[in-house]
Amino acid sequence: MVFVMRDFVLMYSDEFKLHNDPRGFHVENARRLDIALSSCFKENVITRSDLYEPRIRSRDLVEEVHDPNYVKYVELLSREGLNFLDQDTYVNKYTFQVALLAVGACIEGIELLLKKKTKRVFALVRPPGHHCGKAGRALSALTQGFCIFNNIAIASYKALRQGVERIVIIDIDVHHGNGTQEIFWNESRILHIDFHQYGIYPGTGDITDLGGKDAEGTKINIALPPYSTDHDYIYAWIEIVEPIIREFKPRLVLVSAGFDAYINEPLALMRLTTRGYEILASKIVNIAKEYSSGKILAVLEGGYEEGLSVALPKFISILKKSRMVKYEIQQLRPRKEVKELVTSLKRILQNYWTF
Ligand SMILES: [Zn+2]
Repeated sequence: MVFVMRDFVLMYSDEFKLHNDPRGFHVENARRLDIALSSCFKENVITRSDLYEPRIRSRDLVEEVHDPNYVKYVELLSREGLNFLDQDTYVNKYTFQVALLAVGACIEGIELLLKKKTKRVFALVRPPGHHCGKAGRALSALTQGFCIFNNIAIASYKALRQGVERIVIIDIDVHHGNGTQEIFWNESRILHIDFHQYGIYPGTGDITDLGGKDAEGTKINIALPPYSTDHDYIYAWIEIVEPIIREFKPRLVLVSAGFDAYINEPLALMRLTTRGYEILASKIVNIAKEYSSGKILAVLEGGYEEGLSVALPKFISILKKSRMVKYEIQQLRPRKEVKELVTSLKRILQNYWTF
């Protein structure tokens, strides 16, 4: 395929829809991608020329991040047809190949960025990945939450191997990226900043989780209370995320882009609006412009209903156009409990970062 340099690429393959629940009632289903893609076209956010069909399936790289026995187990289970890794996570006869292609899309995204063939990539992939640890279930989670291979972790690993010395992973999915945290617990070159609703699945991501001995302070858990608003997220971003990223100076910005923190989403109780998602996207673009020559890879995680049809197109629109979204900082009204959380977190993190 002849690739013409362009600023934005949407990685997508219809093949991602082959991993599906034949019983037809699982929230993580092929329809999600139809909703996301058709909404982006309807809102004129993307055109056909933004699409890029991934081709890579790199089992080797997957086996460097995940236990090869786990990879083999998924392959065998997938070969048997409809099956379950656990009560949340199904596998059908296509899953193994589709999951390899989802990882491949993220790896190709990294390659395009590092070869300067594009600046910003959104990988519209399934199955999702951030709950998947080295050998499946991560930390103390009871299930692996619909995830097969950890797409963003493998993409990060690829970039590290290519010589990128500092990478930030910003996880805005409403659930904690426990798989990503587990995989990079001892890796100081990966700054993992995770916004999530405290106390829901997978039950991990406490503010006192900071990273292993040689990587302490590089794992940041912004464990927000339920009903957190745009104001709460942006306040936490300004107070915690921005100063840390400025000190860390990432050479590459990766995003676990979950849209299940949107106000009307079914699996959690957060209140991010489209405006909130736009401002977060704008802040991510801004950080990338300053430190990583604008390079961003965002990877789809969760988001099941309106998060995909309403918030995702807005997020992608900002990413594609590299647009700044203005807001009045004086009008930020974080809730009392969020201010207290931010104060506690800063107190813990000041051993590692300057505020
Ligand atoms: Zn989620």
